Amino acid sequence: MKPYSFKEVVEDMKPWENPEKAKAFLEFMETREDRDAADICPRCGKPRMDAIKVRNALSRYARVYICNDCGADEALRDLYGEALPLNRWNMVKQAREAKP
Ligand SMILES: [Zn+2]
Repeated sequence: MKPYSFKEVVEDMKPWENPEKAKAFLEFMETREDRDAADICPRCGKPRMDAIKVRNALSRYARVYICNDCGADEALRDLYGEALPLNRWNMVKQAREAKP
């Protein structure tokens, strides 16, 4: 199996289309140890990630680590039933903008 390039994955998955596709994309990206800018939070896009993965927050909606501020934001939004849809996470928005 040939390795997929980031561009191919993005074109294939179209993660911005709906939260289910976004979840698959985000969880796939989480498995990539070589991904660029590992200090960037996939949810808010800010360089807030601790280099030690488990010191960050685990998202309630995908098996993906997010920064602690986003973890607190998820908890609050959960309380009010206003979860941020996964296809509105920063990494998904970036993928859409990077699309040729
Ligand atoms: Zn964040």
